[in-house]
Amino acid sequence: MWLKIIFLVIAGVFVYRLFGGKVPFLDKPKEDNENEHDFGEVEATSACATCGTYITETDALIYQKKSYCSHECLKKIK
Ligand SMILES: [Zn+2]
Repeated sequence: MWLKIIFLVIAGVFVYRLFGGKVPFLDKPKEDNENEHDFGEVEATSACATCGTYITETDALIYQKKSYCSHECLKKIK
């Protein structure tokens, strides 16, 4: 009798999670990892050496160890 009830509860939680339901004590570690990723993205910004505009590392143009927001700013120092 009790084994049947325990099995039904486990099966219920499994089906609930399959359809996108969140169990707080099981899903918490995943959310912490997402927050760390967002924090890292914010730190990856740097200021343009010519005009001071803040740009992300992926958008920045690197020339002589300095970052620039656009080719126009890069041309000004040449
Ligand atoms: Zn610039």
